[in-house]
Amino acid sequence: MCCESKRRFLLLYATQKGQAKAIAEEIWQQAGAHGLEADMHCMSEMDKYNLETEKDPVVIVISTTGTGDPPDTARKFVKKIQDKSLPPDHFAHLQYGLLGLGDSEYMFFCNGGRTVDRRLQELGAQHFYDTGLADDCVGLELVVDPWIDGLWLALREALQLQKEKEGMNNAVDAVSSSLSTAPHAVHELKLSSELQNLKLEDEGARGSDILSHKVDDINLVAPARDTEPSLVHSVPPVSQSALNIPALPPEYIEVEFQDTQGENPHLSSLISEGTTFEVPVTKAVQLTREDAIKTALLLELDIADTAFEYQPGDAFCVICPNNVSEVEKLLHILGLSEKGDDFVCVKVKQGTKKKGASRPQHIPERSTLKFILTWCLEIRAIPKKAFLRALVECTSDVGEKRRLQELCSRQGASDYTCFIRDSNVCLLDLLRAFPSCKPSLSLLIEHLPKLQARSYSVSSSNLYQPGRLCFVFNVVEFPTGPSRPVSRKGVCTGWLAELVAPLLHPSKSSLGTKGESSSPEKISIFPRPNNAFHLPADPSVPFVMVGPGTGISPFIGFLQHRQKLREQHTDWEFGETWLFFGCRHQDRDYLFKQLQCFLESGTLTHLKVCFSRDSSTAEVAPPKYVQDVLRLCAKEVARVLLKERGYFYVCGDKKHMADDVSDAVVDILSMEMEADKLEAMKILAMLREAKRYLQDVWS
Ligand code: FAD
Repeated sequence: MCCESKRRFLLLYATQKGQAKAIAEEIWQQAGAHGLEADMHCMSEMDKYNLETEKDPVVIVISTTGTGDPPDTARKFVKKIQDKSLPPDHFAHLQYGLLGLGDSEYMFFCNGGRTVDRRLQELGAQHFYDTGLADDCVGLELVVDPWIDGLWLALREALQLQKEKEGMNNAVDAVSSSLSTAPHAVHELKLSSELQNLKLEDEGARGSDILSHKVDDINLVAPARDTEPSLVHSVPPVSQSALNIPALPPEYIEVEFQDTQGENPHLSSLISEGTTFEVPVTKAVQLTREDAIKTALLLELDIADTAFEYQPGDAFCVICPNNVSEVEKLLHILGLSEKGDDFVCVKVKQGTKKKGASRPQHIPERSTLKFILTWCLEIRAIPKKAFLRALVECTSDVGEKRRLQELCSRQGASDYTCFIRDSNVCLLDLLRAFPSCKPSLSLLIEHLPKLQARSYSVSSSNLYQPGRLCFVFNVVEFPTGPSRPVSRKGVCTGWLAELVAPLLHPSKSSLGTKGESSSPEKISIFPRPNNAFHLPADPSVPFVMVGPGTGISPFIGFLQHRQKLREQHTDWEFGETWLFFGCRHQDRDYLFKQLQCFLESGTLTHLKVCFSRDSSTAEVAPPKYVQDVLRLCAKEVARVLLKERGYFYVCGDKKHMADDVSDAVVDILSMEMEADKLEAMKILAMLREAKRYLQDVWS
């Protein structure tokens, strides 16, 4: 899009799951109200912008994926700017502001943004605005909202500076001159808030319900006896505040109901990441005892008749549907129960005000309504504030309307965090709590994100079990709570658990137990690329594996592979192998007791286990966690890593575990090398860089 020269800025986004794009769109939209115009492009559209010649300020919104990689759409860009032959003043002409998105549950928080930021700095580019790093773990909006608020003033100043630089001393254009100083800008922001409040009141007045902030009306929201806020009740000061609420996102989707004739698209058409394979589940084993806190299942897939290939340590993705009864409930609430099997045609609404509006790629042009709700939309997603804002318009009850407004307002930010985000509230929970809210199907398509395939680490070796792929997972449980009257299971793990229920034999507790079945249940999977979490190429190199809980999963694949190699190549030299495993109770959730077999065969040289909740009568309390056991083996770990140039692998489902383990390794290195902590941290960083310290961590 071409914009009037001096009010223009370039807006680039690189998105993996759509969040960076949504934020860029928000910036694009707000820009107009600030007298600016954003020339917005996906970072991958490198033919549409040119940073080498860019004179206007550049705003970059970029997310992070995998273990700290930039999103796929930024790969080409990152490769280009990382060209070592570029001179240090390559981007000296460039002014930019960057907003990185990440999740501090993962290692290398916001690394996608940090990588681009660092490199742009190295190449001489200047910040016109401080970098923002938003954390999905606590709520992106905590950083995103204030970052966007501050962006406008910074942009105007950058544009002003640019004009001055170009020697244009005559009066700047109306917008930048009137808004180029802080007091003006603050005034303007305040003004726009007031306008927003006015607009809200107008809207209320236009409808049948008059929205007011008077205390009398608060009773509609919070009965006098309710002194505590909840999802549906507010208390002062929120309940009495004038609200700054986000602008109403423009509608852009149109849904046309057709007949019931035809076939739904194949699931593979929903995936852009590569080929999908539909494979039978041949075995299911419950690895935990019934009284364990979590239920861990191992599934075996038959991949013999497919071209699916993997190495131990790889992860792959499972395409999963939403829960059938939740889809039914949603259809009921939408008033479309009778139309579930009707084909719908999804199009962009004519004359929409949304910039660059296009049909979301995850929604087929034509499919049944049930197909869309089952396979395409993440109906469990935590509703974003923009969605809440749009839901306000579909809510007739005045009290409910006000509460939804509060939840998406700046004043209600902590209520949003507490009652929506931290409570893992989904659309169905909201619709149950706000019964007069009746959204349209098109609104759901506009606001619900793509139903993502879930990743799992392979827990087998293709050498050891040709034609088979195993994986292990904990069934995620969401207990009931004030905002959720019914407990739920994770979308994918709940579905898989239900799917394989007939295959599960009661009281299975180890891999060796038979669970074979001729069940024809099939699931669709596809490979997950870009993984360095593999066995050392040289089998004589020793390695340490740390995998508490289901984190042990890829190491079973490593050990199976190693066992087979030892049988096949009796003349090869094999390095020693260490495995550190931990769980709560030895007799309830020790997932793979047959590790003993690997130990007996010599494939596993050292097995160190610990149980965090078992009581002990020993005089000296045994170590509880893997990092405690690691410390007890400090000398050996240091020897493997430093003297023998070995590898260190960490896998598990908690960020804290990975941090605790790396802290232990720093302590070990510092102690054994008699070096200070900083020196030990540098060594660990070098090991990471050399890909000899590898992590596969998920939340
Ligand atoms: P969802 O419905 O997506 O719910 C999970 C979400 O809910 C998470 O965001 C979590 O933070 C949150 N949550 C979980 N429990 C609660 C609770 N009680 N209350 C509130 N919120 C909660 N998982 C494995 O089990 N085994 C593996 O081998 C494995 N390997 C992975 C490899 C990679 C590379 C990655 C990225 C992830 C891996 N995972 C693995 C995680 C897996 O992809 C899924 O995230 C997990 O199985 C949950 O999926 P779900 O659809 O069942 O849960």
